[in-house]
Amino acid sequence: QLLHTGLGCHTAALLWLDAEGTRLVMRDAVSASDALVRTVHPGEGALAGVLRRRETVILESLRATYRGLTYYEGAEPGPVRQFLGVPVIESNGEDGALLGVICLDRTGATAFDEAARGLAQDAAGSIVRAVAADRLLHRLDKSRRELDRFYEASRELNTALKPADVYEVALSCVGDIVPFDLACVVLTSYQDGRRFHTVERVVTSDDKAGWAADLTGLVFEHNAGLVSMAIEMRHPLPWGGVFDPTRNVAFTRQVRVAGIHSMLVLPLVAQDLEVGAFVVGSTRRGGFAKEQRELLEVVANQVAVSLANARLYLEMEEMATIDGLTGLSNRRTFTKTLPEVIARSERVGTPFSLIITDIDHFKSVNDTYGHPMGDEVLRQVSATFAQNLRQTDLPARYGGEEFGVILEGTDLQGARQIAEKLRRMVEALSFDSPQGRFNVCMSFGIAEFPVDAEDPNHLIERADQALYYAKTHGRNQVRIWRDIRRELQQAADEPVRTVA
Ligand code: GH3
Ligand code: MG
Ligand code: MG
Repeated sequence: QLLHTGLGCHTAALLWLDAEGTRLVMRDAVSASDALVRTVHPGEGALAGVLRRRETVILESLRATYRGLTYYEGAEPGPVRQFLGVPVIESNGEDGALLGVICLDRTGATAFDEAARGLAQDAAGSIVRAVAADRLLHRLDKSRRELDRFYEASRELNTALKPADVYEVALSCVGDIVPFDLACVVLTSYQDGRRFHTVERVVTSDDKAGWAADLTGLVFEHNAGLVSMAIEMRHPLPWGGVFDPTRNVAFTRQVRVAGIHSMLVLPLVAQDLEVGAFVVGSTRRGGFAKEQRELLEVVANQVAVSLANARLYLEMEEMATIDGLTGLSNRRTFTKTLPEVIARSERVGTPFSLIITDIDHFKSVNDTYGHPMGDEVLRQVSATFAQNLRQTDLPARYGGEEFGVILEGTDLQGARQIAEKLRRMVEALSFDSPQGRFNVCMSFGIAEFPVDAEDPNHLIERADQALYYAKTHGRNQVRIWRDIRRELQQAADEPVRTVA
């Protein structure tokens, strides 16, 4: 617009070379003519000279028969008599890339002069700078978004405790860095000195492709495929990410990932341990740019560390004897201890009792006051148990809001008193929440060894039956299996009698 008005032009146009350099495309024009074309062959007419010599060209006093103004239909000049063409060249250096041409023309006898040439060349310079700034901004913005996502992902990965959580975070993070059609996590394991790979988790863009069905849960022995080789070489494969599904083997020869033309297998190695591999595939050719591949490698390192940590966490959890939330013994400790107590009780010849207890309507506590408040209830109930039992008693968190208490050396009557005391103490607890003050209560079931049952499972089952009875008879109460056994047996017998 500026050149058109300032230099009194008939047409001021900017033509841009396409990526292959085979066509000039009309990007923008201000013109009195409506005969401008959309694309121009760069090798013809007045523009060919500008492009070939990479120099400004001024043509004066054109004849009406001149056929060199290729940016008009039929290359006819119409009323145009003067032409000024300026190449748009990236940077000022000698070998900057040729981006396009500015075409200016006029009717009438006044040729473009040196001042016009200077102005048009300045304009070409500003176009180059604007384009460069725009491209830079675009690149920065894109990589910043990728980096942001990466930082977020590493934070999430650090808090992912279980392997399944790591898979989820990793796959969603990769999806933000590159669009993919297939992604999976492969874990390596050893058995009898042989190496196996298991496809643990598969995400695909297209269920119909059958990749998920073919790959999910696939176990294969270490082979010459890309996954095995990337893990063995501890290097991403294939080179450049180019993949030919008809010739290359990614997992095993038996499972071909038809339609995938770009692939990246990133080995997961942590603390010098081969954990597995991360596979990303795309149906597009050249699907992964270099920067994306590099970023994915960093993500893979992070995933490897998180997976190694998750495995460690699982092992630690298996070794743990204490429940993390309440500080009571966990279920594993409870089920391990019960047979030991039975053995001791048999040896010494004294009975002991088992309480199974469960918070009443706990779901509605969570629903009304929120899960964190529910956790607080669990902590305080547990603290009440811990403070009001003896050293020899074993209170344990048996399930979500269910507890088991082994009362060693305590008979049924003693157990009833203890349960009753616990019931009253829990009932007296008071909780403050933004929704107001509230209380909870619990139901208890008791069975005694050896009279009620002689093996651990049976004993638990009977205490549980008594608890269930308390639940169905008004909650907030203590029930003893022996007291209700007749009713339970009657209930069990009833259907038999009706049939008869
Ligand atoms: P009932 O009186 O029959 O026992 O009813 P209930 O609502 O207590 O029983 P239900 O088994 O339906 O609900 C138990 C609830 O306990 C559901 C579950 O979300 C919650 N829960 C389990 N573990 C935890 C935990 O660690 N924290 C919290 N806040 N809630 C938990
Ligand atoms: Mg409950
Ligand atoms: Mg329950």
